[in-house]
Amino acid sequence: MRTTVAVVHAPGQDFAFEEVDLDGPRADEVLVRIVATGLCHTDITMRTMLPAEMFPNVFGHEGAGVVEEVGADVDGIEVGDHVVLSLRSCRACPRCEAGLVGYCDSSLFLNYLGMRMDGSTTMSRDGSPVFGSFFGQSSFAQHALAYADNCVVVDKSLDLTRIAPYGCGFQTGAGAVLNVLKPGPEDSLVVYGVGAVGLAAIAAAQAEGVATIVAVDLMPSRLEVAARYGAVGVDPSRLEPNDLGTQVVERVKELTGGGATGAVDTTAVPEVLRQAAQSLAARGQLVVLGLGAPEFPVDAIDLMQNGKVIRGSVEGDSDPLEMVPRLIELNRAGRFDVDDLVVSYPFAEIGAAIEDVTAGRIVKPVLVW
Ligand SMILES: [Zn+2]
Ligand SMILES: [Zn+2]
Repeated sequence: MRTTVAVVHAPGQDFAFEEVDLDGPRADEVLVRIVATGLCHTDITMRTMLPAEMFPNVFGHEGAGVVEEVGADVDGIEVGDHVVLSLRSCRACPRCEAGLVGYCDSSLFLNYLGMRMDGSTTMSRDGSPVFGSFFGQSSFAQHALAYADNCVVVDKSLDLTRIAPYGCGFQTGAGAVLNVLKPGPEDSLVVYGVGAVGLAAIAAAQAEGVATIVAVDLMPSRLEVAARYGAVGVDPSRLEPNDLGTQVVERVKELTGGGATGAVDTTAVPEVLRQAAQSLAARGQLVVLGLGAPEFPVDAIDLMQNGKVIRGSVEGDSDPLEMVPRLIELNRAGRFDVDDLVVSYPFAEIGAAIEDVTAGRIVKPVLVW
């Protein structure tokens, strides 16, 4: 079939809207008419990170829509179902069997290689391949092929625009708190970088009744949003310019009564990661969520003497088939109130959406057809 996609032709280029040929669903595939797709930082990063031979490429990995066709081998999904799309996993390797699908043995192939496991692309244009299968969806498109392992069937009464980001950004932040840190009311949390992922972490911590939540960000607009969830803001640009890192750490320690029991970093900026580790209390844990700089400095003596833990997490250790429904339930109960973070844009305005989120004018852009 023909469908319209937002395609990137070469590394670093803008999105262009074009028609491509999309295969019909194979036995293990599900054809979804996309209604809304969240714009996640990873979409913007991949546009510049992937090698030239992996273009043209269609990104988009927070899709939500309506099932139009179901392959013969797919169970539990029917034509007409409303679905939220998330990351793919094989559901058979040891990590998948333990419910830790973000660390699936086949994760790289299933989510990032731009094609199916057999090397075929789902899309083409004038007979030439168009790379896609991004997170098993490439949902910057009017139609996408997805799989039983990354389609979460949701209630038809839900607004697909509001819940599209549950498939990545929101479950990543919330999962870092609910699955990894598992704080109690007596704990404290500091979040470095409060975009959509950081704010979802804060909203989840608020839902868990965490007493002390601190948000660190350079954008006053973001700190204002964090304050709505009970987070005290720290804006490093307002501290004295000399020895800024030490001051940020001291301020966080002051606000958390000696150091945070849990920290989340979404920035992937080496100096910020260093501060995040420094601002932990003894036995505290830092969860690294950002995609960015490959290395950062660690004070190994502080780490050892205080029994601190630094660990990474994919999608907040979430299995979307469980986490997305859990967050929808929390949201319904009024305990994970992230609806106001979403701002919808017509797909054609994807450029404006990127500009607005980068400038901090909005938190979570969701593109709608
Ligand atoms: Zn697996
Ligand atoms: Zn994402």
